[in-house]
Amino acid sequence: MEPLKRVLISRTALAHNFRLCRRQAGGAGIIALVKADAYGHGMLECARLFAKLGACGLAVAEAVEGIELRAAGLDLPIYIFAGVAPQAVKAIVAHRLTPIVSDVSTLALFAREAEGCGQPLAVHLKVDVGMGRQGALPADFLHLVREALAMPTIRIDGLMAHLPKGDERSGTHSRQVLQAFNEVCAAARQLIAYPCGLHLANSGGLFYVAGASLDQVRPGIALYGYYPDGRSGRQAAPEPQLQPAMQYSATILQVRRLPSGHTLGYDCTYTTTRPTTIAVVPVGYADGYLRCLSNRAQMLVSGQRAQVLGRISMNLSVVDVSDIAGVQAGDEAVLLGRQGGDTIDADELAAWMGTINYEVLCLIGRLNYREYTE
Ligand SMILES: *Cc1c(COP(=O)(O)O)cnc(C)c1O
Repeated sequence: MEPLKRVLISRTALAHNFRLCRRQAGGAGIIALVKADAYGHGMLECARLFAKLGACGLAVAEAVEGIELRAAGLDLPIYIFAGVAPQAVKAIVAHRLTPIVSDVSTLALFAREAEGCGQPLAVHLKVDVGMGRQGALPADFLHLVREALAMPTIRIDGLMAHLPKGDERSGTHSRQVLQAFNEVCAAARQLIAYPCGLHLANSGGLFYVAGASLDQVRPGIALYGYYPDGRSGRQAAPEPQLQPAMQYSATILQVRRLPSGHTLGYDCTYTTTRPTTIAVVPVGYADGYLRCLSNRAQMLVSGQRAQVLGRISMNLSVVDVSDIAGVQAGDEAVLLGRQGGDTIDADELAAWMGTINYEVLCLIGRLNYREYTE
């Protein structure tokens, strides 16, 4: 018996998006972002698919994710983009993962751990071009490079930075960042006697900033079918477009008739104003269908829009199907995706939730049973 709600991931859409990214990247290699369980789409499934399609590397947040990928037999470079704490050094080296390093003391820990490995440990060095989280300030970056070059067990495999406003379609801010990054990298490359790659572009950099693709690109959201600037991005995008890969649907439990003046849900936030036919759906905030969607979201039932009435509870919600003929228990309600001629995408859900498509995909994808289709 499968759960009464399911996330369906389309491999065809993922492959389409990967190819679109590759075309956009020109000759740059694709480091496929599979952190956060591949933005809710399933880390192992997506990693295998992107590796098969020719990704030059995979990126995750923490070493534990990289170890899981290695255990699954994935042998391409795996980058640890966030969790490079002293406690993670041993595991990163042992599993041949590639850390992103931005300070000399962490670099020294890796250099020590890599002794006796037989070959130098590949690291990527990060410069902070305005993100203010990780990375060395441009003024300190050459010092970091020199220190790395002085460590015989370390090899600088790449130089990187992260765009704070990659989702800005005009690319104005990103172009300045690109220029600053190129300048500091040009100086760094003068010091490094062997080839090392440069990468800066997330999905926004890849699609919106000419010249940002450099040696590698790092798309995340685009691989999963969405634009980093949401609905406005989709509206402005040329054909062929990215294809959303995630669908979320549930089986209607019950269809009931309520009289006019009847209250609905916790706190009685909704009262019927006419005799109302409701459908009860087995999805709630525990499934990532957050409580802020109460009285706000819509679902697709028989290809038509049904309004959520009252509070979303932990495992249940209620929609109005008074104007949709013939709805029965056992029918399918689509909460995210297409049904009939209509679509509710993660951008629309995000607008109802007051957030961005990234968060919608992570929540719904990670909290629900997933299946894959070709
Ligand atoms: C998550 C992440 C990306 C991908 O960003 P998208 O906007 O999803 O394309 C790229 N680079 C780094 C360092 C990241 O952490």
